[in-house]
Amino acid sequence: MIASAYSVAFEGVEARLVEVQCAIQGGAAAFSLVGMADKAVSESRERVRSALQSLSIALPNRRITINLSPADLPKEGSHFDLPIALALLAAIDILPRDEVARVLALGELSLDGRLLPVAGALPAALAAAEEDCALLCPLGSGAEAAWVGATEVIAAASLADVVRHFTGQAVLAPPRAGEVRRSAPAPDLREVKGQERAKRALEIAAVGRHHLLMTGTPGSGKSMLAARLPGLLPDLSPAEALETSMIHSLAGLLSGGISRERPFRTPHHTASMAAMAGGGRGARPGEISLAHNGVLFLDELPEFSRSVLEVLRQPIETGEVSVARANAHIRYPSRFQLVAAANPCRCGYLTDPSRACARVPVCGADYLGRISGPLMDRIDLRIEMPPVTFTDLDLRANGESSAVVAARVLRARKIQSDRLGQEGRTNADLAGEALERFASPDAEGRALIGLLAERMGLSARGYHRLLRVARSIADLDGSDAVRRNHIAEAASYRLTPGALG
Ligand SMILES: [Zn+2]
Repeated sequence: MIASAYSVAFEGVEARLVEVQCAIQGGAAAFSLVGMADKAVSESRERVRSALQSLSIALPNRRITINLSPADLPKEGSHFDLPIALALLAAIDILPRDEVARVLALGELSLDGRLLPVAGALPAALAAAEEDCALLCPLGSGAEAAWVGATEVIAAASLADVVRHFTGQAVLAPPRAGEVRRSAPAPDLREVKGQERAKRALEIAAVGRHHLLMTGTPGSGKSMLAARLPGLLPDLSPAEALETSMIHSLAGLLSGGISRERPFRTPHHTASMAAMAGGGRGARPGEISLAHNGVLFLDELPEFSRSVLEVLRQPIETGEVSVARANAHIRYPSRFQLVAAANPCRCGYLTDPSRACARVPVCGADYLGRISGPLMDRIDLRIEMPPVTFTDLDLRANGESSAVVAARVLRARKIQSDRLGQEGRTNADLAGEALERFASPDAEGRALIGLLAERMGLSARGYHRLLRVARSIADLDGSDAVRRNHIAEAASYRLTPGALG
């Protein structure tokens, strides 16, 4: 007696089809599971056995073999419980085999037969749509899966519900797609007093999706400013929202609703390598992937471990991170915008004339020196924020609101996506021939950049990053050409912090 059910194994954001075969043969009673399963999958046997008992179904007193195929694909997670139970129930003729073989199933069973929500329902639903079959999932994952729309979703609260559904006793109603979530609006830029230069840099960063580092004494408003970046950025396009939601689904963070807002992730500097880059149990995506299409804010950047800081370099270049697992590497998209903040030195007061740093100037060099040259080189905009003065605080609320700045950002973003012929693409994506074609400065600009490249000792990478920022400044300016003043402003944001102090 052999029956099959279907599920998926995740490789990065890809859901790969897995056939779950159940064979029941003569011989001593046994329940074995083969096919490169991790610990959580092997434990499925106990959960399935107990869940079946809750339905008063005893396992046949024979040799039961579950085979997960293809054998060379690693299977991770507890979501194989449901397809294993289905294959078994079909093999012992409690469920119709052809019906079971027509769905793609995932879900974790509790010992009493309830179905618990699992990570990855969204990519699984997309895989089901591709395979042209229905998705069977836990009730708690139904709203997320239904968002795909292109496939039939059956969401059940328990294994008993599943049995009743397949045997026609009580057909389950399809779940409704989750709501599009809206969180509280980002805090307004108007609340940040003074710091006009930093606000300008934030706006340029928002326009071109450039990476930004703010250094300044505690209380100068670095985190305040960073928290206002989401309020300046346009909503995710539908394609971006799907990409980002897939990653959040795999991390089990989607909880029903899809969001059109750009992620804003703020991991603490004590975050482990696995938490940041992904990996660990089940090779879950890390913070740098959860920030895909959004902002990764790293406060107190020099305090992050060296290995974490170095792991940022690859995704900054390629937009994806490679995560090691048992026998292979998997990739997660991680096209994030890095916004980082740092005190100018360990004690924090190197740049504050009113409070002396005891170890000028080595205190700053030692501290910011933890950010390696290659990482610093990849940060497009670096600004030093002076301590907030009494005059700044005294200003009446006369700064621009986030809405006004966001409108300018949106206009400049439209220019970029039109130029690059793809929604969501920005000047940060300009490379090779496109960079040359769209960001080459006019004659005066070229003369200046030649001079600057020599004087600042720009690397080739630094030179290209400077051009991209200058292109964004020109776009804000509504200028087709990248001019001398755009180059000059872009270069002013590339000074190495600490060198100023
Ligand atoms: Zn100091």
